[in-house]
Amino acid sequence: MNTLLSYFEDTYKFEDHAIIEANGKDENGSFLILNKTIFYPQGGGQPSDRGTLEVGSVVIPIHKVKSVENEIRHYTDREYNQFVGQKVKCSVDQETRLLHARLHTSGHLISNVIEQNYPCWRGVKGHHFPDECYVEFSSKNSQLENITLEFVNKEIEKFIEADCLINVDQVASQNLKEMCPNLAYSIPGDQPIRVMRIGDFPFSPCGGTHIKSLKELKGLEITKCKVKNKIMKINYHIN
Ligand SMILES: [Zn+2]
Repeated sequence: MNTLLSYFEDTYKFEDHAIIEANGKDENGSFLILNKTIFYPQGGGQPSDRGTLEVGSVVIPIHKVKSVENEIRHYTDREYNQFVGQKVKCSVDQETRLLHARLHTSGHLISNVIEQNYPCWRGVKGHHFPDECYVEFSSKNSQLENITLEFVNKEIEKFIEADCLINVDQVASQNLKEMCPNLAYSIPGDQPIRVMRIGDFPFSPCGGTHIKSLKELKGLEITKCKVKNKIMKINYHIN
C-alpha cells in the first residue's frame, strides 16, 4: 500500500485530511493505514510523531507510527475498523513534531561542523530521541583526531547565529555519490532519493523532518565526547 508521505513536503503542516484505507493488528497493537500522512514514522534515529485522527465526534489517539512491510502504520488504542473508507482530520502534536525536527536537524549540523573541521571523522549514526541525543562518527584514519568541545560549540553557535537555511531536494540515485561526497554508505534501488543540506554544507540523504532555518536551534550544546574503538560518540541537547 502506497501512503503518500506528506510530512516530506512541510514540517510545519500540523493538520490535514486523509482517507482511512485499511486497519490491522500486529505485535505493537491495532493500527490504521491512510492514503496520505503527515505523521512521521519512527526511523533514521528519529522518534515518530503522535497526535489524533478525527472522524465526526470520534477522536482516535495515535501514539506511535511505524513503517512496516511498506506500510505506514498509525497505532491506536483499540480497533477502529468501522471507519475504513472514511475521511479523517489528521492532527500531529505540534510541540513534539517541532522538538523532534530541532533535535534531528541538530544532528546534521553537528556532523557537518565536525566533518568540516576534523576531516578524519565521518558521521555514521544519529539518535535524536529527547534526552538521549547523540551522533556517532567513525575514523577514516588509524590516527584519531581529538576534537575540542569548546571550539565545536563555538562553531555551531556561529552557524545558528547566521540562521543558515535548510534545503530539501530529490536526487536520482545515480547522482547521489556526486551530491553527497562524504557519504559513508550506499543506498540501493533506482528510486529518487530525498536529500537535505544546511546552508553551503554538502547534501545528505535523509527522510527525516527538518526545521526551516538554524535560528530554531538556539541553545544547542554538545555536552560530551567519547572515543572508543575508533568510534567517536558526541552527546548533545538543546537548552
Ligand atoms: Zn535529516
